[in-house]
Amino acid sequence: MKKNAAGSRFVLSRWRKETSAGMAAAMSDSHRRFLQIIMCHGIMEGSQARAVHQHCCQAYGTQHTRSLDEFVDTINSQLQPLFMQIRKGMSEDEGLQYYALVNVADTDVTKMSSDYAANELELFRKTMDLIVDSENGTASSTDILNCADSLQTSKMKKKETEQVLSRLVQDKWLNEKHGEYTLSTRSIMEMEQYIRNTYQDLVKSCAICHNIAFQSQMCSNQSCGVKIHIPCAARYYKGRADPRCPKCSEFWSHEIPDMQTSSQATALNPRASTKDNAAPAASGSQSRRSR
Ligand SMILES: [Zn+2]
Ligand SMILES: [Zn+2]
Repeated sequence: MKKNAAGSRFVLSRWRKETSAGMAAAMSDSHRRFLQIIMCHGIMEGSQARAVHQHCCQAYGTQHTRSLDEFVDTINSQLQPLFMQIRKGMSEDEGLQYYALVNVADTDVTKMSSDYAANELELFRKTMDLIVDSENGTASSTDILNCADSLQTSKMKKKETEQVLSRLVQDKWLNEKHGEYTLSTRSIMEMEQYIRNTYQDLVKSCAICHNIAFQSQMCSNQSCGVKIHIPCAARYYKGRADPRCPKCSEFWSHEIPDMQTSSQATALNPRASTKDNAAPAASGSQSRRSR
């Protein structure tokens, strides 16, 4: 929360400074095209965002010298009055970098989308409750189906519930793997503030990246309870023979996965330059590698 609040304050103060001086960074056609594409996808994986950035600059003859983050800053300076922002985040399962267009004005579940009926949003909210309550950031389809039977707005039958769940996956609000549901990177990025306000102490931040941690490893020292995302643990403990909790120094008893993580890994990904710019953003569920 601190990081993001500070981040948006930074953008806001900078926007004010620039506008008060009459110097708000102007968007070119390449910025506008990038914005259109990210609006269309909602979220894009880092390598795809970089490919789209390059494509937009080439298409409009803009010099492609500035970094993607600077390019995005210019767009964000114009989005600020609309309470929108392109934000950078990480997928909890693979540690891939994502760019998402998010609403920074109190996004709660009820405002998440007008495409969903009240009982469908209540089902999503109940799914979030289950995910927050769980140890590993998942909710089983069985538990969600049980909730559907006791919705306040209007009950849902099994078939209808399954249809709503598959729509939530399709729209990239939830990910699903073997009947277990997790919050998508898009949900976490878009609703971070809402999640922190609603669940408060139940939600922990990753000790390494300080973002909300659902799918993560937890310190085995019960009184410590530090959580670390799996890709963050892979990066942090890489090559350490005696992994210890960064807070209490208890032995870190979890398996440390060997995974390619970090933005550098994606930046060097050769697929970035060959990927079709118009291809839909890979959602977590589609792009998951087996490990
Ligand atoms: Zn982390
Ligand atoms: Zn600990």
